[in-house]
Amino acid sequence: MVAPVKKNDRKIVLVEDLTHDGNGVAKIDGYPLFIQGALPQETVEVHVLKTLKNYGFAKIVDIKEQSPDRVKAPCIYFGKCGGCQLQHLSYEGQLKWKENMVRNVMKRIGKIDAQVLPVKGMQDPWNYRNKSQIPFTQTETGPIAGFYKSKTHEIVDMERCIIQVEEADKMMANLKKELMDIGLQPYNEESHRGMLRHVVVRKGRATGEVMVVLVTNKHKFPQKEAAIALIRKLVPNVTSIVQNVNIEKTNVILGNETITLWGKDFIEDTIGNVRFEISARSFYQVNPVQTEVLYKQALDYAQLSGDETVIDAYCGIGTISLFLAEKAKQVLGVEIVEQAIEDAKRNAELNGFTNTYFEAGPAEEVIPRWYAEGKKADVLVVDPPRKGCDEALLNTIIEQKPKRVVYVSCNPATLARDLRVLEDGGYKTKEIQPVDMFPQTTHVECVVLMSRVL
Ligand code: SAH
Repeated sequence: MVAPVKKNDRKIVLVEDLTHDGNGVAKIDGYPLFIQGALPQETVEVHVLKTLKNYGFAKIVDIKEQSPDRVKAPCIYFGKCGGCQLQHLSYEGQLKWKENMVRNVMKRIGKIDAQVLPVKGMQDPWNYRNKSQIPFTQTETGPIAGFYKSKTHEIVDMERCIIQVEEADKMMANLKKELMDIGLQPYNEESHRGMLRHVVVRKGRATGEVMVVLVTNKHKFPQKEAAIALIRKLVPNVTSIVQNVNIEKTNVILGNETITLWGKDFIEDTIGNVRFEISARSFYQVNPVQTEVLYKQALDYAQLSGDETVIDAYCGIGTISLFLAEKAKQVLGVEIVEQAIEDAKRNAELNGFTNTYFEAGPAEEVIPRWYAEGKKADVLVVDPPRKGCDEALLNTIIEQKPKRVVYVSCNPATLARDLRVLEDGGYKTKEIQPVDMFPQTTHVECVVLMSRVL
């Protein structure tokens, strides 16, 4: 394709869609131009920045016709920080866009024609994130902390983030100012020197408990006592301070070794009637208000009468499992992270469940073995990471024919792909319910009900 525009051209274009990065997309003779900050239905004058063979980039010079859904982004870091992509779109506009996006992805990737319901959104779509992973580094002017610019490892130095909890703001804004006083040097990615790589803050919304994890580049931590005192001063409601050691040259935030420095090894939270203990390395949904909406939907789709055996694949600390266990005969949960399975077992006990069984391992290996051992499920719930289900697991489902599959997914593209495999294997997609777990971003979670037809 020959680009119909070249660098430095000016054009007036109609924006048709948004990309996953939150850029507007306009087409000139079929050639897509990505325009930062532009919204669908807007007519904008753009300045072409760069053209490649199949697409180009442009910036807005003037908005000729504004989207009725355009709002002023409330965060001063919006456009620099890579965390949020949609603050310039009204919340209603975001929900509408997400609904359409899910519908289009289902059709395009999965050829799935099931009904996509309107997205279940939040009443107050701010300060919802109960977990923040804040990178620290050293600059010529001192330590900085914030979030990365989109698609880079460049930290935007920030004082607050209006989608995270207040305790995370305190760590972001204040810890860096006092780090040098206690001789704790932030990490430098290039030289692989310095001690403090990330600070992870996690809060139990219902209990108010807070965990602060200091990710360090060394095991030996001479400033430990001073760091504990400083954190307790900055966040008086902290209940757990943990060191996580990560000495690798890697983008992965947490290393394998965690040492409790002060307080408990975990924090507690409740969702619905169920109480959970969450340790540093276990997965826990980041939006507790919407997690309850999500799990209720999954439970609804499972249609349990009390006689069913349910398998919860990719169960994390057993959150969905315990929601299901209230209504099922038995729930079997499987998860690859051992510490999460330990949490799941403890959580079952904490809540008095005796009808659950948890095992650590890859779902695609453990579940076929369970079936071979005669542990059969009437309903199977899957909640895989972004890459979707392992093919071997999908094949097991197709062979073993549980009556219903409830698929919880944070990635519509891999969801559509997997639904297609299951449809070809004898299931029918009944309904798709998107839930907005991540307001102000382009992410969306979906819960899907599938029933066996063959
Ligand atoms: N259902 C849980 C966790 C969902 S996140 C909740 O709502 O909290 C996905 C989980 O899948 C993570 O805990 C991750 O550790 C786990 N996981 C990733 N690959 C896996 C695999 N192959 N087998 C089992 N679990 C896996």
